[in-house]
Amino acid sequence: MASTSSEARLPVAELLRTLIRFDTTNPPGSETACSEYCRDVLDNAGISANLVGDDPDRLNVVSRLPGRGDAPPLLLYGHIDVVPTAAQPWDVPPFEGRLQDDYVWGRGALDMKGGVAMMMDALIRAHQTGVSLPGDVILALVSDEEAGGNTGAAWLAQTHPEMFEGVRYAVGEFGGFSKTYRGRKFYMVQVAEKMGCHVQAIARGPGGHGSLVHRDTAPTRMSRFLVKLDRTPLPFHVHPVTRMMIESMAGQLPCADGSFLRLLLNPAFTGRMLRRMGTVGREMEPLFRHTANATVIAGGEKTNVIPSEVTVTLDCRMLPGYDAEDLLGELQEIAGPDIELQAIRFEPKPWVLNMGLFDTLSGIINEQDPEGVSVPMLMPAGTDGRHFATLGIQTYGWMPMNLPADFDFLKTIHAANERVPVSALEFGSEALYRLLQRFHD
Ligand SMILES: [Zn+2]
Repeated sequence: MASTSSEARLPVAELLRTLIRFDTTNPPGSETACSEYCRDVLDNAGISANLVGDDPDRLNVVSRLPGRGDAPPLLLYGHIDVVPTAAQPWDVPPFEGRLQDDYVWGRGALDMKGGVAMMMDALIRAHQTGVSLPGDVILALVSDEEAGGNTGAAWLAQTHPEMFEGVRYAVGEFGGFSKTYRGRKFYMVQVAEKMGCHVQAIARGPGGHGSLVHRDTAPTRMSRFLVKLDRTPLPFHVHPVTRMMIESMAGQLPCADGSFLRLLLNPAFTGRMLRRMGTVGREMEPLFRHTANATVIAGGEKTNVIPSEVTVTLDCRMLPGYDAEDLLGELQEIAGPDIELQAIRFEPKPWVLNMGLFDTLSGIINEQDPEGVSVPMLMPAGTDGRHFATLGIQTYGWMPMNLPADFDFLKTIHAANERVPVSALEFGSEALYRLLQRFHD
């Protein structure tokens, strides 16, 4: 494996190409070889880094660079596991780390070995150029983000909270990428994320022999509920983060476009507006309500026996700040008396919102891309941010990437032909390097 010398810094794209070559598909992850490589790169650059974890195959890397103590420590974190590539039509081998047409191709290029490479590059550069850091900088490269963080961020936050003592802000995923809307370039900064909640729906009905005539059975009752759930959106809620996002976008658009967008903030119009917005509306809809999707259906063991019970597990994602009872109430409205609903997995996590670093991040983007407008974003899925939030840490999802207008970030992650422009990696590394010098603002 390639190694760096303390004189020359590996270009960030080359670092990413090597990271991609470690197949850290989760499951099973097996991130340790990749972690060892990251540790060696940091060590060779004069930054001491440790491998920590409770599973020898799934170790994490933690490093701490001392600062001058004018600011609380800043946490940079990224995950080195990736999602599977099986059954996807890739044009290039997903773990080759190919450089082609000024893009680095491969699984993890965007999510998020690209971000990991930017962080390592920025930290090494800060160390080698001897810049004075306002406070300590902690770098955590973690395993298992894509499957819950049990050996990674969750483990670190639960078993080693002392490593993160005093940290107020973290920079990680998911955000920082640019998105062009109506000719304006917006940089989405994740400041909050939805919370997962698994709900079990149970339909009961008379059982019996499969040779007789039956109506209104447990399977029928459950299917009625599922059809209704498919056709009835859960109520719209204007979350404070979504309001900030829409208002900052609207303020940058021509008057008519801005007023159009602002109508989303009136729950009486939200549904109609989202439908009129087509694809963008479908992408935005989860930011305006809880979502519930049926995933696991169980009932009946024998073809000639009518089951007296059918269960369906719903994958629900809740807006932050609500609790499971709010969601169950909304679902029960749709389900009616035939269906019993229970939250079977819900871990309430504290909802931290501290916008104190936002202006600094926004200022850095403006220096590097004067056309760029930073907007706060609510993430519709979960990230490792929720684990660090238990320590009172506000994550900013900020892996800055100035992407071409026709590059669809959201459609490229977790998909075939995941790739990142080399220029976007350099843009992000530069932005993080600037942040390391001024996170006390
Ligand atoms: Zn990710």
